[in-house]
Amino acid sequence: MKNAEIIAVGSEMLTPTRVDTNSLWLTDRLNALGVEVVAKYVVGDDRGRLAGTIAQSLAASDLVLISGGLGPTEDDVTRDAVALALKREQLFHAPIAEAIEARFIRMNRVMPEINKRQAMVIAGAEILSNDRGTAPGQWIDTGGKVVMVLPGPPHELKSMFERECQPRLENMLPPVVIRTLALRISGMSESELDQTISPIYKKYENPVTTVLAHNGDMQVHFRARCASVDEAEALLSEIREQVDEVLGTRIYSHEGEPLESVVGRKLVASGQTLAVAESATGGALADRITSVAGSSAYFLGGFITYSRALKTLLLGVPLETLQAHGAVSAETAKAMAQGARERSGADWALSITGNAGPSTDGDEAPVGSVFVALAGPEGVEVQHRVWPASDRQRVRAFAGQMALDLLNRNL
Ligand code: ATP
Ligand code: MG
Repeated sequence: MKNAEIIAVGSEMLTPTRVDTNSLWLTDRLNALGVEVVAKYVVGDDRGRLAGTIAQSLAASDLVLISGGLGPTEDDVTRDAVALALKREQLFHAPIAEAIEARFIRMNRVMPEINKRQAMVIAGAEILSNDRGTAPGQWIDTGGKVVMVLPGPPHELKSMFERECQPRLENMLPPVVIRTLALRISGMSESELDQTISPIYKKYENPVTTVLAHNGDMQVHFRARCASVDEAEALLSEIREQVDEVLGTRIYSHEGEPLESVVGRKLVASGQTLAVAESATGGALADRITSVAGSSAYFLGGFITYSRALKTLLLGVPLETLQAHGAVSAETAKAMAQGARERSGADWALSITGNAGPSTDGDEAPVGSVFVALAGPEGVEVQHRVWPASDRQRVRAFAGQMALDLLNRNL
């Protein structure tokens, strides 16, 4: 497999206000071609320092992509630095100067003399046309290794890479097929998940495995790179079998779908409806449910009952329940879900009550304590967790995930 290094040129990206995004985009494209990015640099507008970085990257890797610093001014040093690193001359290329001049004329302007610098080309380079700006790029083959010099403005770089570099790379690289298996998992901790699946993925260098965890929602991506679709799919189904075996129903999607979509699909299929009653999450659960296109087919609405008074008024939670057990309790969660189900007429109703912190109000449950209940055709089920998170938004996100997970298991 070929590897690549990317060098982003520009002192502005060494300040706290500008970020190098070109390398992210390029990495995605290179990965799709089967090229691995092994190092990235951000280098200021300094000829010598940049030349040193280029020489070092070229010694270490097959492809070196440089973005930025192709403008006409003194501080645009990329061309000079490449010439220095490769010990090659720069030649004036008249047709480029003419094309730049024509561009200025089209815009009713006169080309400043300094723009001629943009017509300097490294000896032996192929010119990469720029259909979005003035500075052309360059493709320099140095006996198997390639240096690509690309403009800094992202729209110029993207267009140039797609039109000029991608076809050249496809020609020189073996064909590669990339297929991804994206699993989504809930109902276990990140460390539990990793412990369970690492004996499987550690056996493989291909596919590459990534585990992502975010507020109780976990994703595992297996990315296979093979010479053919059949080979990639066979490899992924081999992995899938082993992972299914150890994770079972904790996998809620094999297609990378979020839990709210999975639940939505099941409700559409069964022709059933859903309502919610939220305290701690203040509408965040309804927000997730309605972020799915077509959710109006099954989602009737929700009750945001933050105060005890509204829990009683809107959901009919008995005053005695609140007094005897507290607002954050299994009894209150149950009464909220039942009230929401009865008053909305939905087949299913989810409720959430909890203490997201950071402080408790004396008699309340501890911070991180969350009760979710599901009222359905067969009765009501309640779950309780105390999330270790001390972060309010995290506890709220955990609570929403827990509620959708409970519903999913019952559908
Ligand atoms: P120009 O002819 O416009 O000067 P250039 O090739 O010299 O083009 P730069 O001057 O390095 O490019 O960058 C121009 C602008 O493009 C920067 O101000 C910045 O907004 C954007 N840019 C440059 N490099 C990057 C990068 N790596 N990621 C994201 N944006 C970038
Ligand atoms: Mg510039």
